[in-house]
Amino acid sequence: MFRLTALAFALFAASASAIEETRATDAAFDYDHPELWKDMDGSECARSKNSPIALSTMDCTHYANYELHLGDCTIADMNFSVTNNGVKLDYGARTCSTPHFDIPKDSITSGTKYHFNTHIHLSSEHTIDGVYSAAELHMVHVNEEFLQGAAGMRAAVLGTMVMPNSPVDNPTFERYLKKWQLAREAVDCGCDGETFTVSPDVAEIDVYENMRGKDFYHYDGGLTTPPCTEVVWWNFNTEPLLISIRQFQVMTDIILNTRVLDKGGNCNKITVASKGGSTSRPTQPLNGRTIDKICALSR
Ligand SMILES: [Zn+2]
Repeated sequence: MFRLTALAFALFAASASAIEETRATDAAFDYDHPELWKDMDGSECARSKNSPIALSTMDCTHYANYELHLGDCTIADMNFSVTNNGVKLDYGARTCSTPHFDIPKDSITSGTKYHFNTHIHLSSEHTIDGVYSAAELHMVHVNEEFLQGAAGMRAAVLGTMVMPNSPVDNPTFERYLKKWQLAREAVDCGCDGETFTVSPDVAEIDVYENMRGKDFYHYDGGLTTPPCTEVVWWNFNTEPLLISIRQFQVMTDIILNTRVLDKGGNCNKITVASKGGSTSRPTQPLNGRTIDKICALSR
């Protein structure tokens, strides 16, 4: 009896450890199980300076100004895509001078940071005074050396809450949205027959439209998706980007319902959203970091 029990226990222990090992190397990236991200290869998701965090209203401090430069890219230079965790735009082969800004004085990072991509999370990731917004937009900027493959990434993110509170469509956001609708059509295997005819949009676009003249929360943190690398100088807009309810619904439908063919020929939703429709990471401990609020950047 004892021997049988011991054998059964040994078998159980062996299978349990096999499960643990599988999890350590193949931990899935989805928003129902963010606690498993720390087990993914190369993960920094359990370190002490992660993002997002809970922000609180405070007085702003004047630092040396930095300016936002638009470069000469048009919307035609941008690649729009639907990814497993949302909608994204980037610049592909960089055939134009991308939007950028200089950070003149900072203890962690300095120098010019170039617009690398813009993407959106459903449900905000940061909170302000404990309050979430419907979505959060991230404009990720990186160092030139990283873009040339000559050094690691130093990132500066301009983040902003997105709120579907506007009674009218946001014109600039509408230009993004039409591009994301086309990107969805190009990959969606479950297309219901709806098609769009969109006139070509090649004009310059002010990617910083919602960022000028605003105060920003600043803190040092990390990427909010695995591997959660702690290389981000966060600049979080104190004022939200306002879009219409219709625009929010269109965006949400693209993020949650785009379907693509997998390797087995099956048509599945691409999203890794949680069952509740969230693509946002829970807030992380501050662990002694300080948060500043920078008075309006370009003032
Ligand atoms: Zn993000």
